[in-house]
Amino acid sequence: MMLDNKVAVITGGAQGIGRATCERFVRDGASVVIADVADEAGAKLAEALGDKAVFVHTDVTDADSASGAMQAAIDHFGGLDIVVNNAGITRDATLKKMTGDQFDAVINVNLKGVYLCTQAAVPHLEARGGGAILNAASVVAHNGNFGQTNYVATKAGVIGMTKTWARELGRKGIRVNAVAPGFIATEMVLTVPEKVLDGLRGKTPLGTLGQPDDIAAAYAFLASDDAAFITGTCLNVDGGLVL
Ligand code: NAD
Repeated sequence: MMLDNKVAVITGGAQGIGRATCERFVRDGASVVIADVADEAGAKLAEALGDKAVFVHTDVTDADSASGAMQAAIDHFGGLDIVVNNAGITRDATLKKMTGDQFDAVINVNLKGVYLCTQAAVPHLEARGGGAILNAASVVAHNGNFGQTNYVATKAGVIGMTKTWARELGRKGIRVNAVAPGFIATEMVLTVPEKVLDGLRGKTPLGTLGQPDDIAAAYAFLASDDAAFITGTCLNVDGGLVL
């Protein structure tokens, strides 16, 4: 029970990696606020997880909505210890074809959303005497990726914000870390053609795509007291892909 009696807000918690993280955190003893725009999937997951989970409709691009998700942790579970900034989208196109709308949409969710949720969470974490913030980066932040100008910019930005907040918030007992998944078998990735997926498996030393549980395990570790002296880092969970 690595997370016994902890309270977490998990953005984008209704499906994929976020869903696996909600399930893992509850198994490890935490209570979770599932903060997502996907009402049906979020409510269904909360029902399946029982008393230790609540779904709150949350759009991370909206400051009031982000604050509402953090407040829900206080109202339902009496405090806030952990935020997992997991919500993310893609709108892929090569540089020549990318529209301003595609660029802005990804910046708003993946970068501004992380900023808004963290800003809303920090006073609650301080009130608790400390906590852990976990941000979803990606291995593409290190190496770039064809057709992902907008997405790569956000993930590199998330790593920069992680380091900045680790410096700003360390003295308050708040640790801030990022996880950079490789290619994980979620809806985001399974829309990629099978031929491309085969190529990705071929480039991965461990020879497979990752599973959402692999990322959830990294979040659980970094959120737990076992990681008490880890802050400002970005942990690659990628089967060796970036090698
Ligand atoms: P996913 O598409 O399966 O799930 C994303 C979730 O975010 C969905 O439930 C969606 O409803 C929610 N969401 C979207 N916009 C939102 C908003 N404005 N407010 C609140 N919630 C919103 O994605 P995933 O594959 O599980 O990825 C989760 C995170 O991990 C993302 O940040 C993604 O960039 C990152 N990541 C994923 C992979 C991968 O291979 N799947 C690799 C690297 C990084």
